[in-house]
Amino acid sequence: MTPAPGWVEVDLDAIEHNLDTVLRRIDDTADVCAVVKADAYGHGIEHVLPLVIARGIGTIGITSTDEAVAARFLGYTGRILRIRPALAEEVEEGIAHGVEEWIGGADHAEVVARVAAARGIRIRAHVSINATGITRDGIELAAPGGPDEMGRVLARRELEIVGVCSHFPCEDRADVAHGAAAFQVQAAAALRAMPAGRDAVRRHCATSFAALTVPESRFDLVRIGAALYGDTAAPDPALRPAFTLKSRVAAVNRYPAGRTVGYERTHRLERDALLASVPIGYADGVQRSLGGRASVLIRGRRVPIVDRHAMNTLTVDATSLGHVEPGDEVVFYGSQGDERISSADLEHANGHIAADLYSVWGRLHPRVPVRTAARAL
Ligand SMILES: *Cc1c(COP(=O)(O)O)cnc(C)c1O
Repeated sequence: MTPAPGWVEVDLDAIEHNLDTVLRRIDDTADVCAVVKADAYGHGIEHVLPLVIARGIGTIGITSTDEAVAARFLGYTGRILRIRPALAEEVEEGIAHGVEEWIGGADHAEVVARVAAARGIRIRAHVSINATGITRDGIELAAPGGPDEMGRVLARRELEIVGVCSHFPCEDRADVAHGAAAFQVQAAAALRAMPAGRDAVRRHCATSFAALTVPESRFDLVRIGAALYGDTAAPDPALRPAFTLKSRVAAVNRYPAGRTVGYERTHRLERDALLASVPIGYADGVQRSLGGRASVLIRGRRVPIVDRHAMNTLTVDATSLGHVEPGDEVVFYGSQGDERISSADLEHANGHIAADLYSVWGRLHPRVPVRTAARAL
């Protein structure tokens, strides 16, 4: 059934399998935080959280407070960690759901502490340090003023420090190993500056790539997103992609050689052609940059998007298929028969990581959970 012009199929078996694979790889070397930011990377927190809960995963990573609300609504009772610095209003809203905040620096610590003070409570906090050199938030602990800034954060009684954290800039083994070594030294310095209760402080910096390829980057907790969804640069053949964006062919026509296709006349037919119009476009997240660059699957074969396309429709050259009909399934990302449009294909077409596209697609299109284990066997 087609619930809409475009829809997303979320493979629950793949996510379940990926979760189990990650838990097996990490084993007891660190706790796992399942990252479900951006509505579970577009896969839908309502689909992913029950699988996370079933495996007893003790921490989840979120960004918006809405995700914390959804997690609690779905029955998640574990720890919720916001993995970016929050605005004061977000901190305020997060309190009711027990959100632990990511402290982006000494001034940001003041913001979080003031919200806590106004409520007369303490907020659990993870202090970000710029040990890896991602340089987007966090205390530059190695600089002359760094220890003083850390001191200011630790002096805020309203913050209950439960974590020291960083984030890696590159998915590169040597870069991660180097950053992890710096993090180890700086996190130790931060811990020494903490008066008491430092046993409860978890050190964490690893993402999927880091945790799966550089075991020394794991420390006490690993924050795993990409691997759960089967889209990580870590070379782990066991992981399976879980996301498919589909639509269907609306109209089919034959046009003579010499015609130009779509806006701006950027594409000219070099031969008589069989063109299919597909009813989604750039307002549906199929960015204009993909026109003339990306391919889709129809009848199990690759065919190119040829036009500089429209807001809600685009054109595919299906001449090579010989025959195509209104209603035929179109796959933009994911597999059909034995063919697959992979993350690498999207990256090649778009010039950016695939998540840049699918995290948006998942939130623009209706999502349909599917189970594919039986077919994969
Ligand atoms: C998104 C994110 C993660 C998860 O990274 P993956 O590469 O998807 O595993 C971890 N930490 C932070 C701070 C993030 O923003």
